Amino acid sequence: MREQSIAEKYEPVIGLEVHAELNTRTKMFCGCLNDPLEEHPNVNVCPVCMGHPGALPVINRDAVLRVMRVGLALGGEITAKCHFDRKNYFYPDLPKGYQISQYKYPIVSGGMLNGVRITRVHLEEDAGRLLHTEHASGKESATLVDYNRASVPLMELVTEPDVRSSADAKRFAEELQMLLRYVWVSDADMERGQMRIEANISIRPKGTEAFGTKVEVKNINSFRAVEKAIEYEIVRQAEALEAGEKLRQETRGWDDVKNITVSQRSKEEANDYRYFPEPDLPPLELTPEEGFDIERMRVMLPELPWQKRARFGTLYKLPTNQVEFFVANPRFADYYEKAASELREWVDGSADDEARAMNLLANYLTSDFQALLQQKLCPIEETLVTPENFAELIKMIHKNEISSRVAKDVLMVMFADGSDPTDVVRDQGLGQVSDAGALEAIAQKIIEAHSGPAADYKGGKINALQFLVGQVMKETKGTANPEMVRDVLTKILQ
Ligand code: ADP
Ligand code: MG
Ligand code: ZN
Repeated sequence: MREQSIAEKYEPVIGLEVHAELNTRTKMFCGCLNDPLEEHPNVNVCPVCMGHPGALPVINRDAVLRVMRVGLALGGEITAKCHFDRKNYFYPDLPKGYQISQYKYPIVSGGMLNGVRITRVHLEEDAGRLLHTEHASGKESATLVDYNRASVPLMELVTEPDVRSSADAKRFAEELQMLLRYVWVSDADMERGQMRIEANISIRPKGTEAFGTKVEVKNINSFRAVEKAIEYEIVRQAEALEAGEKLRQETRGWDDVKNITVSQRSKEEANDYRYFPEPDLPPLELTPEEGFDIERMRVMLPELPWQKRARFGTLYKLPTNQVEFFVANPRFADYYEKAASELREWVDGSADDEARAMNLLANYLTSDFQALLQQKLCPIEETLVTPENFAELIKMIHKNEISSRVAKDVLMVMFADGSDPTDVVRDQGLGQVSDAGALEAIAQKIIEAHSGPAADYKGGKINALQFLVGQVMKETKGTANPEMVRDVLTKILQ
């Protein structure tokens, strides 16, 4: 069945489950370092995270605070009593034989992101990492285990089945990643496994209410894979239904090489986790008396991605793609805003003029300047170009004091030594030549040196003018005002 006819006949229903490793200093229930960059295996471990008998866990309050921040940002409700449960299962990456999680009382209930209702957000601990080694000559293949990640704080967010397309699922995941970074909860790097997405997918005939049988897809390790895995499932499920098959509820894995989902286990094989309240941890009251001042935390939240999006759209009147760039790159956004407030002081013209200047600033920042930063591997916080100086450069372009060609060179100098653009332009004589007398003399010289094209122009070949303009620009090292050059040349030639 072709994808177009599937889209006409069926509607996808999607719910997402997202895990994110929290960027706390220490692990969830012990003092071991939570260091995702540690490459040496099994150094950040202790009797507590290894589940030795008699070792007692202690709740990491920073992890609780982080999940609360996420909940507040999403507009969810924070539970008054925070309580943990044991989820029992065996797997070699789980040294304790159980995972401490939250089953009955998640920290957060409800909330909304991108129009998708949030069911819950809870706190649990991560498992270790398994490394399957290749079969080497003379050696058996083996599986190695690294427990550095065991018991690292892990947040799990579950959505209602409100998502209706693969593109919306991807957008949700991207927005959530930004949110987690904005509220300093997780680095949420999908390639590093700091953010992991499971997609629950079913389809139903358009116009009907009842949900179809859902399939849960795991091993999705990029935003692109979110989209591709869901698209693959929609087609697979529709083709099965069209062939008169019955779908079964199962867990499937995304194969990033073959671009397909593969069945892992069916509902009948699902684990019975025998959840029960964690006996080694007391309930935690999320009240101001216990150091969890919800109202204060709500007030202290930073600007959130959607708030920044709205503000940048209205305040600076930038096009959508640029607004999105700044929302996704808050450090560039900060730099932009500092420069913008300087630039405002200089362009005291009309609202139109100001909007043009703000756009020019955004254009230069996201093109030439960003390219230079990337080329020199320089983070924007470390550049020698101050926002004030950058704003000054933009002002000079905006007011036609320098040409855009000269601006590139000036920016290079500023980038190399942090100098003031006004000084660079003055010292190197790069100011736009708008002196009519000076330009006339140069134009006269060029016309005499290129009598052929000059004659062509007089004979009606309008294009010949462009060549002469180019020669004048070259002669003035790009400092001439191109419009004036054009005027002066036509005047002389007539
Ligand atoms: P399970 O018990 O299998 O984990 P849940 O009811 O906890 O199922 O839901 C898990 C996720 O699956 C949630 O994100 C939820 O929105 C989503 N979901 C539930 N039913 C469906 C369905 N029929 N189609 C798509 N997603 C669904
Ligand atoms: Mg589930
Ligand atoms: Zn430990």
